[in-house]
Order: sequence, then structure tokens, then C-alpha cells
Amino acid sequence: MKSWVEISGTRLVDNLRAVQAIVNVDGAAETLAVVKANAYGHDAAIVARVLVNAGVRWLGVADVGEGVRVREIVGDGVRLLVMLALEEADCKEVVERDLTPVVWTVEHVGMLERAAESAGKAVRVHLEIDTGMARQGVDCEGVAIIAKRLAGSKWVRCEGVMSHLAAAEVEGSVVTRRQRDRFADAVQIVVGNGVTVEWIHLAASSAVDEGSTLGWMQELAGLVGAKVMVRPGIALYGYCSAITAANDGVIGCAGALGKLVKPVLTWKTRVIGLREIRAGDTVGYGATFTAKSLMRLALLPVGYADGLRRAASSGVGDGWVMIGGRRAAVVGRVSMNLVMVDVTDLEGVALDDEVVVLGEGVTADDHARWSGTISYEILCGIRAKFVES
Ligand SMILES: *Cc1c(COP(=O)(O)O)cnc(C)c1O
Repeated sequence: MKSWVEISGTRLVDNLRAVQAIVNVDGAAETLAVVKANAYGHDAAIVARVLVNAGVRWLGVADVGEGVRVREIVGDGVRLLVMLALEEADCKEVVERDLTPVVWTVEHVGMLERAAESAGKAVRVHLEIDTGMARQGVDCEGVAIIAKRLAGSKWVRCEGVMSHLAAAEVEGSVVTRRQRDRFADAVQIVVGNGVTVEWIHLAASSAVDEGSTLGWMQELAGLVGAKVMVRPGIALYGYCSAITAANDGVIGCAGALGKLVKPVLTWKTRVIGLREIRAGDTVGYGATFTAKSLMRLALLPVGYADGLRRAASSGVGDGWVMIGGRRAAVVGRVSMNLVMVDVTDLEGVALDDEVVVLGEGVTADDHARWSGTISYEILCGIRAKFVES
């Protein structure tokens, strides 16, 4: 095995409990665990099973393909919210597999009605409001029209209203405040047009971490007789965006949740080669690294094809791996399937030794910093075999 990923079910459940402890302070809230993109690269099969065994009743997937796959793992009963735009070709499977799509156009409702009617089975949906992402959802002017359409539908029942925050990690953000106002208006319009709304949801991990939206959601839910749901993704996997201050944008620290969660994924490989190089020898493509003195290098069978970013190369992001709890710096450029690391000062490193590419001592946030991206992109870019630990 070139490299493999270990998923800690215990950590995953601990992170879930951390989310639940925070959101339940303001009143009971349901957790919809987001497992889209193969559970952020953590293997949806492992993650969905662990979360459902821990009592999770709602999972969020990206598309119908993921919904069908997760349905096979979790069986009937667990609710699966399909969060990407619906396509006509998907509607039959939505009805058959009891998936819950997000909708926001009259066309979405029409195509679902046709599929539901021909199967003789009603379908439940959540209405998405665009409050400020300009991505998915009906804008505020269009809410009344779609609400009326849903209220009058025999086959499509709108049980939830949702939106998504653009700047939830910014403390006291004016963008968030504007989005909340728009969301509150939209929810009232939907209810005012005769839709019985059971769930309202808006908060992903950062909103839970930042915290100020949760009490407000409970108040809004109380006004319209609905219940609150939260939609954490990244926090369940043990990462959170830094909470930033609104005024100066200075990177703050983790919020309440960020301090509690711990990474679930460890990506490992083994040493497949060891060699000594002398002063003046160069390493890797482009000969970008020249040894200044005698060095000992370990060869590892992971590269950018596996998701180890080329930006981890020395002189670029200056990445490292962990061997026996100590750092070994990347030397030269990361290749497609290989990388060399410096073990000169790491006595006793031998062939077959286990190496942590990402995990304790070298987090997805570290990888993200080397590559100028975010932990999310690193995690869902790892291609290795999954093992549950
Ligand atoms: C991905 C996603 C989430 C989860 O976001 P995190 O930042 O990972 O917690 C929640 N809601 C929607 C609509 C999403 O697309």
C-alpha cells in the first residue's frame, strides 16, 4: 500500500458532541451532518455509518449520486438533504430513494411533481433563499411566487427553509446581519403564504463557532413554529476557519467550537528508500535544492497525484512530514508519485518506517498554508485507501 488514510470514529463522534453541546445551549437544534464530497475526503461510507450510529438523523450530500450511495449505507429512515441544484434526470431517483432536494425555482417544483405523481409518492423539499451568496436560491423578490407554488402543490411538500452565510467566520459581520434580515423576511413570507415550515437552517460550522446566529435562529423559529437545524461539515472533521474581527480583519483564534474539535483523518505512508547525498548534489526536478553538506534523505511514495500539493516543495511552501513524532522537511520538488524528505537529524529512521503525511504534527491547516488554500480543499483532494481506526 503506497499510502493510506485512517479515520478515527471516536474523534468524529467527539466532534459531533462538541457541535451539539454548543448549539443546544440556545435551545434544541437538530444536527444535519454534511458528508458531501465523499465526507470531505474522509470516505462517506465510514463517516455516514459512524454518525448515524451516534444518533444523527440528517445527512447532507452534494448530489443525487452521493445520496444514492449514502442511502445504501445508512438504510431507510435517515434523512438525506441533496444540496446541489436539481436536474430533471435526477427526479425519479429522488422519489425512489426518498432523498430531500433543495429547490428554489418553479421548474424544480414542476419536475419533482411529475416524478412524484408518476410514482404515486409525495416528495419533501427544502426551499433555499439567496440572502447574499449569489450562488443558489431564490432571491428575496421571488420568494412569494415560489412559496405560493409550493403551498398549492399536491405532490411536493416544503418542510424546510434554508440559506447559507457568506462571511460567518467574521465576528459581528454586517454581511451576516444583512443575510439574517433577508432570511427572516423570507421565512415570514413563506409561512405567510400558507406553507407549514418544520425546519429552518442557516448555520454551517463557522456560524456555530462564531455563535451569535444561534440564539437569533431560535427566536425566528419560535415566531413561525419551526425547529432549528444546523449544518456543520468541516468542524465534524476536526477543523474550523479562524474567526476574524470585523473591523481590521486580523486573524483571530478559533471560536468556542474550534477549540474543541480534533482532526479525524490521518494520512500515512512508509519509507521506501534511504540514501545519502553529498554537498553539491541536487535533489528532484529542476534541481531546485542543492545539499550544503552530507544529508540523509528518505523517499516516500506519495506525490501530487495523491493530493500532496506541489506547493509543499522546499523553497515554495516548505512542507514537512512527521516520522516518529519528529518533523522531516520536504527536500526539492514534490513529484507526481514521490517525495524526498530530510532525515539527516532523525536518527534510526529505517526502511518501512511509518510516516504521517497529514495528521498529528502536520495538519490540513499546515498543508493549506503551504499551498495558499483552505483545509477543505486539502482534505477532499487526498486520494488514498481508507482504513477505519
Ligand atoms: C458545505 C456546506 C455546509 C457545511 O459547511 P462547513 O463550512 O463545512 O461547515 C453547510 N451548508 C451548505 C449549504 C454547504 O454547501
